[in-house]
Amino acid sequence: MEQFVDVVLPIPLERLFTYRLPGDLAANLKQGMRVAVPFGKSKIYTALVFRVHQEPPTAYDPKEIHEVIDEVPLVNNIQMEHWQWIATYYMCTLGEVFRTAVPGAFLLESETLVLKGEEKEWEDEEVSDQEFLVLEALEHQTSLKIGDVCDILERKTVLPLLHRMYEKGWIQLRETLHSQYKPKYIRSVTLHPKYESEKDLNDLLDELNRAPKQREVILTLFQHQATERIPIEIIELQKKSRVSAGVIRGLLDKDILQEKKIRTDRITYEGDEGVLTQPELSDFQQKCLGEIRDSFRELDVTLLQGVTSSGKTEVYMKLMETFLSQGKQVLYLLPEIALTTQLISRLQACFGSRVSVFHSRFSLNERVEVWNNVRRNEEKAQVVIGARSSLFLPFENLGLVIVDEEHENSFKQFDPAPRYHARDAAIVLATLHGAKVLLGSATPSLESYYNVRTGKYGHTVMNYRYGGVQMPAVELVDIRDASRRKRMKGHFSEKLIAGIQETLSLREQVILFQNRRGYAPIVECMTCGHAPQCPNCDVSLTYHQSRNELRCHYCGYHEKMMVQCMACGNATLDTKGFGTEQIEKELKELFPEARTGRMDLDTTRGKFAYEKIISGFASGQFDILVGTQMVTKGLDFRHVNLVGIMNADALLNFPDFRAHERSYQLLTQVAGRAGRTEKQGTVLIQTYNPQNPVLRQVVSGDYIGMYEEQLSQRSEYRYPPVNRIIRISFKHKGYSTLNEAAAWFGKALRNAFGEQVLGPEFPPVARIRNQFIKQVLVKIPRDRSLAQTKNSIKRIENSFNAISQYRSVRVIYDVDYF
Ligand code: ADP
Ligand code: ZN
Repeated sequence: MEQFVDVVLPIPLERLFTYRLPGDLAANLKQGMRVAVPFGKSKIYTALVFRVHQEPPTAYDPKEIHEVIDEVPLVNNIQMEHWQWIATYYMCTLGEVFRTAVPGAFLLESETLVLKGEEKEWEDEEVSDQEFLVLEALEHQTSLKIGDVCDILERKTVLPLLHRMYEKGWIQLRETLHSQYKPKYIRSVTLHPKYESEKDLNDLLDELNRAPKQREVILTLFQHQATERIPIEIIELQKKSRVSAGVIRGLLDKDILQEKKIRTDRITYEGDEGVLTQPELSDFQQKCLGEIRDSFRELDVTLLQGVTSSGKTEVYMKLMETFLSQGKQVLYLLPEIALTTQLISRLQACFGSRVSVFHSRFSLNERVEVWNNVRRNEEKAQVVIGARSSLFLPFENLGLVIVDEEHENSFKQFDPAPRYHARDAAIVLATLHGAKVLLGSATPSLESYYNVRTGKYGHTVMNYRYGGVQMPAVELVDIRDASRRKRMKGHFSEKLIAGIQETLSLREQVILFQNRRGYAPIVECMTCGHAPQCPNCDVSLTYHQSRNELRCHYCGYHEKMMVQCMACGNATLDTKGFGTEQIEKELKELFPEARTGRMDLDTTRGKFAYEKIISGFASGQFDILVGTQMVTKGLDFRHVNLVGIMNADALLNFPDFRAHERSYQLLTQVAGRAGRTEKQGTVLIQTYNPQNPVLRQVVSGDYIGMYEEQLSQRSEYRYPPVNRIIRISFKHKGYSTLNEAAAWFGKALRNAFGEQVLGPEFPPVARIRNQFIKQVLVKIPRDRSLAQTKNSIKRIENSFNAISQYRSVRVIYDVDYF
């Protein structure tokens, strides 16, 4: 009987593809193994086996698979099920999930290929439209052949462009079908066994009398073997005996030395094995842990709501220990930015080499190693700590998932598909494993708290900081009055200046928060009112004083700051608004003695730049840290006694239904950086609206008040958590095509769902990288079937795609968008 196999291709195809399975390959083929398959005219892809069967497809004549790549499945059944859930729930294809889930190195390539750069982040750098098209295409598929790039750019010569991109580290170039993953080996040498006896060795040394350098190598090696009893790395031997590589090669050629390659896993922990015994929990931590355990008896998910510095991490660690001792794997998820060395070392000190870190800053090879360790359920992968994508790892025996800072919006993947929420996807994963989930936050998301209130999640609270440390005193500073009376110095109120002065005189540290980078977001001519805009996006250019440039924060476009207005020619340019760079400059004028540092996207580009600023500040290398929201996450600075928020209004006025919730979270989290030792810290929030209820809730730490007020507004306007939402975005280069297309789609949606549809409307930035954008929001009441709604939307999309002039409009779904 002829055999067929349905496979998942790592590209956005709605359906699985069926291939013929040659008899000799059929024997051990299982779901989750990789196969190489031909696709289209000349492409070869790595696909994932989904199902083996005997029913030939009716619509096309299937091709044969080329080869089977794995001997054991790379992806297990639970993952398969989980990925299907993600594809269905977030309205994308299984291929897109596959593409995101496995490290790129697992996907084999054919011919000369262009791949995404490994380390380099190109966002925010200057990217030409052509370069962008290539990079964007690489977000959707692993690799492009040179011919594909020609097609995309509609030109014949692309090599110079690709070469430039390669030099900038944005892409990699590869050749021929081969596995990209190469385990790392250490090249080491030993003495050939024939010189084992002392006599033979002495003879050898005599023989080498006329080759003093070679003789030196043998002596060094002999010494090493006597003391270390492990092979010596070639490099080390070379250094120790002070010879060139040629000398060692000579000895290898003469068979006096033997080369040995030793495979090493790079994810090794170099430190003491879990030396730190776990700290004793305080009474309230103990009580909290007990409540979590109780709640796990009945419910699978529990929310730990503990104020900043209440010691949530210690509670997590105790709980993890319990699951580990039952032989279960633990996944510790946290936002990328909170994945700091500080936290990793704390966990490693406790769990030693059982901890693996899965990090997007790791190389492809390192990610492959973590993947394999988790799949083999190895000792060193019992605890995986990582950002959102670590939930795609092949867990065998998952017992507990911790989602730290569960309110963080960076758990939601924005682009490309799958646009999944890691917290929610982790809960589904845990259910498939029969595992438990602990969510932790000082400022839970409305969604999670709603689930607590409706009895879906358990709940436990820690209202005190660990060690009797006091919560900081939070105070609003009305700057409306001060600016009217010209009592501000730049963007600093007298109160904030006095606070900084006092803190510095006590030799303590200050954090200043301003959620905008650069010097000023708008440059404007005082004579004619003209403000320079990005040529590719509908947004004003931000002035960056240190480079004397205007930059676009959406596409990376930049140009030199002009002296005269481009419109009227007068030299009357002025700036409006302010960013971190301007605050830093004003600080230097106000406090010339103080040492200041800045933490934002501009100062944290390099691989270790972020860590350097954190450790510099923690060790007291500077007194004041100015930063964007990067300063809010998971940092434990001992000597910060004052936190200043330069302008709270910009956050509150953001046009989004989550703006108030997010302001509460952000401000509370920044405030939580203050006063982590015995002394009570101070937080000063500068605002033009001291009456604003959200700010008052921040001052009094009134989470419940915030929750209830926001929830009533959300219910009234039918937003989450009471309803669900799907945001549909349309993108196209042509303004009128986009408008017509979005209107057509919007009307069809309204026919189906009536009042529940908002838009189409332009978002605040209506054009990015020369693409116009319109959005429609579909609200889905809890009692309406989400699955049916999605099916109706998909049907509308099918009719939409049948209209030829709309086919080139991109339609992007974002379910539960953030
Ligand atoms: P959170 O994550 O809730 O903000 P942390 O877990 O970072 O708080 O704890 C705050 C500080 O208190 C940390 O420096 C931590 O080492 C310390 N701490 C918390 N619990 C204990 C404990 N049981 N024993 C000793 N130190 C603790
Ligand atoms: Zn731009």
